[in-house]
Formats: sequence, structure tokens, C-alpha cells
Amino acid sequence: METSIWILIAIAAAWALAYFRTPLIGWTLVVTAALALCTFFGHSSKTCLVIEWIVFALVAIPLNVAPLRRALVSNHLFALFRRILPPMSVTEREALDAGTVWWEADLFSGNPNWKKFLALPAPSLSRAEQVFLDGPVEELCRLLDDWDITHKRKDLPPEVWRYIKEHGFFGMIIPKKYGGLEFSAQAHSAVVVKLASRSTTAAVTVMVPNSLGPAELLIRYGTDEQRNHYLPRLARGEEVPCFALTSPEAGSDASSIPDRGFVCRADFQGRQDVLGIRLTWEKRYITLGPVATILGLAFRLFDPENMLGKGADVGITLALIPTSTPGVHIGTRHWPLDIPFQNGPNWGKDVFIPMDWVIGGAERAGQGWRMLMDCLAAGRSVSLPALSVGAGKMVARVTGAYARIRKQFKLPIGRFEGVEEALARIGAYTYFMDAARTLTVRALDAGEQPAVASAIVKYQLTEHMRRVLNDAMDIHGGTGICLGPQNLIGRAYQGIPIGITVEGANILTRTLIVYGQGAIRCHPYVREEMEAVTDADGARGRRRFDHAIFGHIGFIVANAARALWMGATGARWVGVPLTGPARRYAQQLTRLSSAFALMSDASMFIYGGTLKRREKISGRLADVLAYLYLTSATIKRFEDDARQAEDEPLLRYACEYCLHQAEQALHELLKHSPWLARVILSVLLFPTGRRHEPPRDHLGHEVAILLLAPSATRDRLSAGIYVPRGEGEQLGRVEAALPAVITAEPHERKLHGFISQHPLLHGDLEAQLREAVRTGVLSATDAETVREADRLRRAVVRVDDFPTQTL
Ligand SMILES: Cc1cc2nc3c(=O)[nH]c(=O)nc-3n(C[C@H](O)[C@H](O)[C@H](O)COP(=O)(O)OP(=O)(O)OC[C@H]3O[C@@H](n4cnc5c(N)ncnc54)[C@H](O)[C@@H]3O)c2cc1C
Repeated sequence: METSIWILIAIAAAWALAYFRTPLIGWTLVVTAALALCTFFGHSSKTCLVIEWIVFALVAIPLNVAPLRRALVSNHLFALFRRILPPMSVTEREALDAGTVWWEADLFSGNPNWKKFLALPAPSLSRAEQVFLDGPVEELCRLLDDWDITHKRKDLPPEVWRYIKEHGFFGMIIPKKYGGLEFSAQAHSAVVVKLASRSTTAAVTVMVPNSLGPAELLIRYGTDEQRNHYLPRLARGEEVPCFALTSPEAGSDASSIPDRGFVCRADFQGRQDVLGIRLTWEKRYITLGPVATILGLAFRLFDPENMLGKGADVGITLALIPTSTPGVHIGTRHWPLDIPFQNGPNWGKDVFIPMDWVIGGAERAGQGWRMLMDCLAAGRSVSLPALSVGAGKMVARVTGAYARIRKQFKLPIGRFEGVEEALARIGAYTYFMDAARTLTVRALDAGEQPAVASAIVKYQLTEHMRRVLNDAMDIHGGTGICLGPQNLIGRAYQGIPIGITVEGANILTRTLIVYGQGAIRCHPYVREEMEAVTDADGARGRRRFDHAIFGHIGFIVANAARALWMGATGARWVGVPLTGPARRYAQQLTRLSSAFALMSDASMFIYGGTLKRREKISGRLADVLAYLYLTSATIKRFEDDARQAEDEPLLRYACEYCLHQAEQALHELLKHSPWLARVILSVLLFPTGRRHEPPRDHLGHEVAILLLAPSATRDRLSAGIYVPRGEGEQLGRVEAALPAVITAEPHERKLHGFISQHPLLHGDLEAQLREAVRTGVLSATDAETVREADRLRRAVVRVDDFPTQTL
């Protein structure tokens, strides 16, 4: 009996040491103290004690004496790692090294620092930024007629182009000293949200010069001369930029572009023997290309005579080329799914450009890939997430209203449980999408370039925009399908694959980038291990490796202890600096973070270097990390919004959905693990089984209700979109119809009861109302309320039709 108690105490002590991430020396001291106590106060036999001390010494001395530990353990592991680590090309390394790591590293650690996270400031805009949103952005939205743009003109009208250029929309990221607006990422994102709620074409047109492209590249890497020349012209809209990376043969695998340039000398524009590059390229899909005046071009530079002193294969290089340069072919258009922003191919053969057109000059030649990856690490947090959220907010507002306005079976369709399910998804997804958007741009404003978080929001927000729009299309039925000025969602639906494909197509972003980059950049030890085994100084490499690998082992042990304890207790005793409804979700997230960290290490151990090719595994690992990120963003948003009680269903649905998805991905990973790993990990990760059900029906009902009537919550959910006033256009009509329909509902119910007894009045509302007033069922005022609601409802559910020749 006594022995079993001692064993239990020993297990508990070991578990506590692991849970609190005690370093090796801490373990050694505690075990030494325990053995000393046994020796002086215990009842064990002398033989037993001697054996215990010898075993302890045999383990503790080699582990604590570094040279011995290296010789006996870590040098062997070092050799093994060297063998199994997959080779990495320079471009892969540069892509991995791009940007910084931020909150996502906390989620990877198994023990996120909530205090630090919750202390992040709430999103805010400066006065100038708010004035711009309320002024020029509002006015630009008013000028946009999306049907005219997408169907008739197939371009933005000239006055809109003019307005965009004159009001500095192309210079949101350009510093004030060059005449730009120098907006925060938060403001930049807010502008795109608002425009996207009105016209995808306009949003994309404004997005592109402000994301990865000439301005961004010049600000970061341009020479003073290039900056002084181009940035003021870009800010004033005198230049229209585009950036061309993609080639017919190189899309996702952009580093393999066949476009090439050779360093040479030639006479150029009256100058003789100018050092420059003879370029041949073929690009496609280039946004703003057909109307661009400057072409940012990525190509591979060769220098056969080593004139630059960088060897024959200089590497990917970026240049700015005026499109008026002889030999530049540009101007024809692709047709991206009826969203007619300017997009097209361009090409050139043996076009000579001077070396000072290379961004950053000759010094930056060959650094193009690194420059692009660094820009992308930050840039993909802004444009496409904002585009997705703009669409989501508009759809949530319109679809909720439509589901109340549109009646079938004498009821608003939003009252049917089937429609409720779709509405709930729209509401909750929009809530967390917006939360993730504002959280991530806050990192940019704090000077970070969160490479992994940006890939997560690019992928997850465009993907959830797709889900939101699919649900909205189902709810709108035929009115979503038949295009025309009445249709508010059809064009956004058509445009879904654009966001999915650009700035890193989603399948690749999910399966290759989020976890691939995350595992190496966010993991506290993996990067150091990788660098150690490739360290040119072998002895130093072994020392570094020894340090990292033992830290890593401690990390695994700690996460195993934490995952098991939190899994068994439902994470109820996890300390998080939160009260209120978000507290439990933060605790549960902490548990899943430990489970994820353990699963991640287990996957690296199981699959080794082949994990790079096991995209079904890395995709699921990416899902866990992504859903943890989305949960944390949701919690932060709820807290930043001062815990609005009415928003609680949105918080709960969003968190429960995301935690369920994260757990589901872990479960799938276990299912596909080898049996022994599956058995061990199942015990550690799910000691009492799975804990996260999808959101319950009643919760979905609560969320759906929030979308069906005007409220502060609905306004918060759709804040920042363009809502036109008056009944001159469809969104204005929807806005006018919703309150009118709600006011009329009790009178309509009376009317329905009345006409069920008067079948001859069927289908003739006017006659029904007259009769209801005559018999006192409705007052004249009530009848007028019903009449007005009916008029507005009909205006909303109407569908456009056109003479054949106009189509
Ligand atoms: C409307 C539009 C605007 C664009 N604007 C620009 C622009 O301004 N400038 C510019 O340079 N480019 C632009 N692009 C190009 C865009 O970046 C590419 O389309 C994108 O990189 C994907 O390339 P791809 O279309 O050739 O698809 P592919 O590379 O052929 O990919 C097809 C599919 O295979 C998947 N895939 C490929 N490799 C892997 C892998 N290793 N693992 C998993 N999945 C993989 C992809 O995720 C994708 O789903 C634009 C494209 C479009 C459609």
C-alpha cells in the first residue's frame, strides 16, 4: 500500500515538473532531493537505495554533463537529422525566412500568453483615416454602379478612374513625404472592406497598387532616385502600376519563371554603351496590366560575363519598366469571371532596359525572390482578407434582411429551420472573419510581418467567404441567380475563385505554406535544429543541436503532460486572465494548443523529411493552427467590443465551430497515424474522448435571429460597408423594407386568419385589406402599414428581365 502511494506521488511529481516545463537541471535537483529524503528518512533496504542511486547517477550524469551528453546521445541524433532532413533550395529557404512570427508562435507553443495577447490595443483609425472613409470612400461607393460596370461597360467608368486617381486611392501605402496617404494597415483594410461591399471590380482595382507591387517594392527596396521619381507620380495617380510575376509555365511554382534577362551593354535613348539587361518574358493574368503605365517585372537574371560580380546566375530580379518602352506588348485583356477589373497578359522579346530600372539598382539584382516573399508575408494579410470580409458583411446584412422580407408558406423564410442553419453560418463566419482581419492588420501596424498568420487569413477568409456566399445563394434562391441591378450577391458569388486563386492559391497555401512555414518558423526548436545540422562549423553545429534537441525533448514532455491533464479535466483549471463568456473558450483553446504542439512533434517524428510531401497531413495540421488562430481572434474581438451581451451567440457559435474544426482535424490526424502512435496519442490527446461538438441547433437559432431584424449587433456585424440611402437602388430598398415588413407582421397575421375564411379574396391584397377594414379586423392605419410593407417587399423580391438584344 505504502509503495503504491509513493509511486503515485512520484508520478504526480514527474507530471508537475513536466507540466511546468522544468529544465533538466530542475528535474535532477528534485530527484536528488527525493532520493536524499528516502535515504535519511525512508525505510528502504540499503541494497535498494544503492541501486536507486546508481541508476540515477547513470542517467543524470550523462544528461547533465554536456560533452558526455553530446557523445552519448545528441551526436547520434545529429547524424540522423542530417540524413532525414529534406534538402531545401535557396528559394524555399527564402520563402521560409520571409516575414516574422507573431501570435501564431504562441499558439504553436502549447502555452499561449493570453495576457500579452489581450493587451493588444483594440482596432482604431486616426481622424484623417476616418474622414477619408466617410468622405472620398463613401463618395466613390456612391459613384459605383456595379451592373453598369460588370455588364454594360465592362470597365470602371472614366469618372470613377479619375476619382480614384485624384483622391489618392492608389497611394494609401505611400508615405506622406511622397504625397501619399500613408494609411495604417487597419485603414487600408477598412477602405477595401467598404469598396468590396459595393463592387468587387472597384475593390480589386484599388487593392492592387496598394498591395504587392511597384509602390510597396519601391518603399522598401527602391533607390532614392527611383522613390523620388515614381512614388509621387503613383500617389497622384499619374502612373498606373501593375506587377507581373506569373508566367504561363509558372503559376504556383513562381520561382521557376522562365522569363530571363542577360546583363549586357547597349546604346539606349541617346546614351552610349549603357550597362543594362536584354529581357525576354511572357506573363499572364496581370491585374491592371492592360492599363498600366509602369510594369513591375520579375525575371531571372544571368550575367555570362560576370559584369555585376555576382556570378553567371544572378537570380530572380525585379525591374520597373515604363509600358511605353519599345518592345513591351501590353493591353489585351483576360476576362476574369465577369468581374471586369483590368487583367491581361504582357510579353517582350530582347527588350533592352538600363540597369537603373532594376528595383534597388544593380545592388539588389538577384534578391527579387526574397523581396517578393517579404512583401507577400505582410501584404496577403490585407487585400484578400478585406475583400472577403467586405463581401461577408454585405451578404450577412442583405441575406438576413432578405430572409425576413421573403415569405413562403406564409412565413418569412428565415423562420424555417433549414434556412436558419445557413443564416447562422453566415452570421458566425462573418463575425470571426472580421475578427481575424482586424487582428492580423494590427500586427502589421505594430511593425510585424506575420508570415504564417497572413497565410492563415488569406486562406481561411477567402474560403469562408466562399461558404458564406454559397449559403447566401441558397437563401436568395432565384433572386441570387438572375443577374441584373437588383441582384446584390450574384457578382460577388461569381468572383469567389479569384480570391481563392491569387496571392497563393488556397490548396497550396493550406497544405504547403501554413504548416510548412509554421512548423519551422513558429516552433521553438525546429529552426534551430535545422540550422544547427547545416552549420558550416561542425563543432558549433553539434553544440547548437545538442541544446536545441534537449530543449525540444523537454518541450514534447511538457506538452504531453499538459495535453493529458487539460484533456482529462476539460482545461477547467487553466489560468487565463479573462472573465465572462469567452473565458471557457480561452481555456479550451489552451488545451488544444498543447494537443496541437504534441501532435505536430509526433507528425514530424513519424513522417520525418517526407512530411513535406504528405500534404494531407500538413493540411490538417494547418487546419488545427488556423482554427486556433480564428478562435483567438474571435475572443479578442468580443473583448475589444466590451463584451456586448447581445453578441454572445456570435462569439459562442464562432468559437464552438472553430474549436470543433480544430479538434476534428486532430482526430483525422490520429486516424491516419500508425497504430502505435494512434494508441499513445489518443490517450494523451483525448483521455476522456472528444470534447468539442459542433454548435448546437438552439445556438444557431439565436445567431439567425440576430440577422433577421435591425439591431445594434447586426450593425456591428456589418459595420464598415456601404449602405445607400433611399429606394433608388436595391440595398436601399432592402433597408427600407426590413423595418416595414417587421411592423406589418402582426397585422398580416390577423389578415391571414381573416382571409382563410374568405377564399374568394385569394390573391387580391387590395380587396382583402378593404374587406378587413370594413369588418373591423384591421384599422385603416394597419391596412396602410400592410400595403406599404407589401409594396416594399415586392420591390425587393423583384427580378430583372431584359430584351434579348440587350443581353
Ligand atoms: C484574376 C487573376 C489576377 C491575377 N493577378 C496577378 C498579378 O497581378 N500578377 C501576377 O503575377 N499574377 C497574378 N495572378 C496569377 C496568380 O497568382 C496565379 O493564378 C496563382 O499563382 C496560381 O497559378 P495558376 O493559376 O497557374 O495555377 P497552378 O499553379 O496551375 O495551380 C493549380 C492548382 O494546383 C494547386 N497546386 C499547385 N502546386 C501545388 C502544390 N505544390 N501543392 C498543393 N497544391 C498545389 C494550386 O493550389 C491550384 O489549386 C492572377 C491570377 C488571376 C486569376
